[in-house]
Amino acid sequence: MGNRFQATDRFADGAQYIGGRLQPGTSGKKHSVVDPATGESVYTYELASTADVDAAVAAAKDAFPGWAGATPGERSDALHRFAGVLAEQAEDLARAESLQCGKPIRLSTEFDVPGTVDNTAFFAGAARHLQGQSAGEYSGDHTSYVRREPIGVVGSIAPWNYPLQMAAWKILPAIAAGNTIVLKPAELTPLTSLMFAEAATAAGIPDGVVNIVTGAGRDAGEHLVGHGDVAMTSFTGSTPVGKRVAEIATATVKRLHLELGGKAPFVVFDDADVEAAAHGAVAASLINSGQDCTAATRAYVQRPLYRAFVERVAELMETVRLGDPFDPATDMGPLISHAQRDRVAGFVERARGYATVVTGGEVPGGDLEKGAYYRPTLITDAAQDSEVVQSEIFGPVLVVLPFDGDDEGIRLANDTPYGLAASAWSRDVYRANRATREIKAGCVWVNDHIPIISEMPHGGYKASGFGKDMSAYSFEEYTQVKHVMFDNTAVAAKDWHRTIFGDRP
Ligand code: NAD
Repeated sequence: MGNRFQATDRFADGAQYIGGRLQPGTSGKKHSVVDPATGESVYTYELASTADVDAAVAAAKDAFPGWAGATPGERSDALHRFAGVLAEQAEDLARAESLQCGKPIRLSTEFDVPGTVDNTAFFAGAARHLQGQSAGEYSGDHTSYVRREPIGVVGSIAPWNYPLQMAAWKILPAIAAGNTIVLKPAELTPLTSLMFAEAATAAGIPDGVVNIVTGAGRDAGEHLVGHGDVAMTSFTGSTPVGKRVAEIATATVKRLHLELGGKAPFVVFDDADVEAAAHGAVAASLINSGQDCTAATRAYVQRPLYRAFVERVAELMETVRLGDPFDPATDMGPLISHAQRDRVAGFVERARGYATVVTGGEVPGGDLEKGAYYRPTLITDAAQDSEVVQSEIFGPVLVVLPFDGDDEGIRLANDTPYGLAASAWSRDVYRANRATREIKAGCVWVNDHIPIISEMPHGGYKASGFGKDMSAYSFEEYTQVKHVMFDNTAVAAKDWHRTIFGDRP
């Protein structure tokens, strides 16, 4: 069903994009992109070697002076053209994303691709607004000002759940600020990162500004993070891998930005609209088959609404249609891989020993048997300290727990190592406002859960990492500020020289 993307012809030249050119990897190790809806290989390529990473970093280093020296207006113009090229290629990008991830075509067409085009347009504008905050005569005898400068070559590593958006979130603020970049996408999902880089070239962004190395985490990834010519590491992925990346980046004293795992709470107070909350919980736990770092994973529902909420969520989950990602009627596709499906199933099977699986908890048969599908799953009666409540499952699994007073709801929401996103559901402005203040997360929604916008920052608290993607705040990661100070006196013996010379002239 549907018009699938043909990757083999499109990327016949290889899966490395270095210095404005597609080329094969040289590691001698082959890797296949597998369509998770069918389990079939759709593209086989050679992974990047450490020498390929060196070549990409060298290309980025060569391109840096020219790109950093372009005016903000010139970079902005290029990014505007880039947004235009991406918009023209929207259909192809959506099909490639659905093919490699198993995302429903509705999701890639209505969310991933337009979000990326909008992000590109946002950074085209933002590129002209890079500012230092102060200029003036602070000492009386000097004029000081602040220059905001790019850092150099950025090495970025991205996950497989939103490959196009993650490539955009990493690449756009970096290049808008005048850096050049080498991005390593996840091995499972290189296609749209490569298309994104090709579109940058088509828009006139100079060769070497955007490079893609598609290699394994342990070799290409670690080599990129530790590379002596890479000035900054920006990583999005799981918390355990983020810790390893941090060790390597710290040993080489690099600027570091970490966007890590999440376990978002969804807190429903007893004055909430239960119908709205139930719809919100189902959509926000199942988006992208639950493989979303901000997905609703733990719903805490105040006791008077608990039963009605659980019943309604179960009912709504059972209406969700699993199917071919290319069928516009499909609501939820497979998970990224059979391995990820089995990992998710493992969490649910273990939970049967200590909790109740209300609906789902199974691998569907029939036409879906070949794919990495898993039914939307609702779990209740789990203890707060149990694995399904504390660990990132990264699948279509929602756990619901009751709470009594508002204090307890907020305490439980904060009771995991993570702090990426959360939501509070209430019609009482004071209760909702308190929740937004007291929940420790980089984003708190009120009466909704999931929407993101280019103008607003995305990033974690606690073990979800630090630093911001999107918005003008991301420039704090991708720039460094320099204090420039001019002497205004033109005298040889300055007043402060008395600390050395005493009263001698
Ligand atoms: P992962 O951590 O396994 O892999 C992420 C990337 O790191 C991949 O490109 C992988 O090849 C690379 N990698 C693996 N080992 C490495 C190493 N030793 N050194 C350098 N690079 C290495 O994550 P995943 O399974 O691809 O993605 C899912 C995870 O990403 C989840 O934990 C999710 O919450 C997180 N995520 C976070 C955000 C956010 O904004 N905070 C967004 C999307 C996904």
